[in-house]
Amino acid sequence: MRQPMVAGNWKLNGSRQMVSALLGDILSGLGDPLTAEIAICPPFVYLQEARGALEGSGVVLGAQDVCDEDEGAYTGEVSAPMLGDVGCRYVIVGHSERRSLYRETDELVARKFEAVMRAGLCPILCVGESLEERNAGVTEAVVARQLDAVVELVGPERIGEAVVAYEPVWAIGTGMTASPEQAQAVHAYIRGRLDLAGVSAGSVRLLYGGSVKPENAVELFAMPDIDGGLIGGASLQAETFLAICRAA
Ligand code: PEP
Repeated sequence: MRQPMVAGNWKLNGSRQMVSALLGDILSGLGDPLTAEIAICPPFVYLQEARGALEGSGVVLGAQDVCDEDEGAYTGEVSAPMLGDVGCRYVIVGHSERRSLYRETDELVARKFEAVMRAGLCPILCVGESLEERNAGVTEAVVARQLDAVVELVGPERIGEAVVAYEPVWAIGTGMTASPEQAQAVHAYIRGRLDLAGVSAGSVRLLYGGSVKPENAVELFAMPDIDGGLIGGASLQAETFLAICRAA
């Protein structure tokens, strides 16, 4: 039995004022305990502030990225042990914006994944194809390559403890959502691919991400291999985020 999960990725948005107002609104609107686990991933500089606001609420904290090294001369970086130290449970690795805008390779993403596990935290590994790749019919090959790079480095047992988010690049921040059937097909493929690699994939949580909104969340989350969502834009407003959390 996989516990559903909804993670809010704030990206490069926020302020101290927003942390207290938005998290305050989310927590007061939560009401009865939800079946889904809820994680909030603010920018690094607001993690400490968010930790204070979430204290005792059951809503957990995540980071949006991490360095593949634990310590040393890496100016500007933030390590997995540091993220653990400020109370993170989850760390997103391989988000498509990191892969495309910051040229992160499959190998670097795999090393970041390993660093997160080394620190005792849980990676949320993002995979997904671009529109050109989907149109060229290579969605499965792209997702397989992204998954295999991690399995090769860390082994099947470790990836079985992580969360995988399928985020088609063409659906992120564009308002174009994958249909429930399109998303389910890739989720089923991911589970099958992990199984083939020796991962006990039945217990791995697979999230969908890409323009999830209250209007499409119920249908998406009802699919058998979709265990919740990684939410960008819609996590920046308490009402929309809460509606998505309730759908999971
Ligand atoms: C994301 O940033 O992971 C994401 C899915 O963004 P959005 O929900 O805005 O498409």
